[in-house]
Amino acid sequence: MNLVFLGPPGAGKGTIAAKAKDALNIVHISTGDLFRSNIKNETELGKVVKEILAKGDLVPDEVTVNMVKARLEEDDLKEKAGYILDGFPRTVAQADALETFSKLDAVINFVLSEEEILKRLSGRRVCKSTGRTYHIIYNPPKVEGRDDETGEELIQRDDDKEEAILNRLQVYQKSTAPLIEYYRQKGLLVDIDASKSPDEVLQSLLKVLK
Ligand code: AMP
Repeated sequence: MNLVFLGPPGAGKGTIAAKAKDALNIVHISTGDLFRSNIKNETELGKVVKEILAKGDLVPDEVTVNMVKARLEEDDLKEKAGYILDGFPRTVAQADALETFSKLDAVINFVLSEEEILKRLSGRRVCKSTGRTYHIIYNPPKVEGRDDETGEELIQRDDDKEEAILNRLQVYQKSTAPLIEYYRQKGLLVDIDASKSPDEVLQSLLKVLK
């Protein structure tokens, strides 16, 4: 089953994808995580995208599409029953490109108010090495400021700081929100209420996929 998780930053796409991938035996591909790992490893791609991510702007379509296409050709995809694309496509041009090399079964639209998005993003903390995410109020770590498994210090992503958050929301409205109608017209869109707890959102996702 090939899925796209669509929705504003902070809607919980990554959190739900990390849970749903096991339940559905599919691969979770987050373009944001792929970019962040390139930045961390100081690859050529990482150098190109570092500033773009820090500001909350979009990486150019061609760069992003090539990265996703290459990722979908990796071996683990052959062993699994499909994929979740989390954070891709984010523009109509990316969606058009995706159609030329893969076929989707459904697009899950995570619906959440702007007020809730701001609350979630400003409280988000991550562990740099494991990528695990927390929220200072909704999903706190066992020990304040430390990753549950490795004990490493949690950080706030550069793009979770206020200025970048506001920019990301504007970018979402302008470039990504049009994909809601794009996929609705293709009969692929499924709306999901993302304001509930992660387990409740997961359960409603699994239910609609049946
Ligand atoms: P995310 O972790 O999904 O919030 O993505 C973090 C950042 O990575 C975004 O703010 C963009 O700078 C970049 N990014 C992720 N996915 C895409 C995409 N599909 N197109 C362009 N830029 C992207």
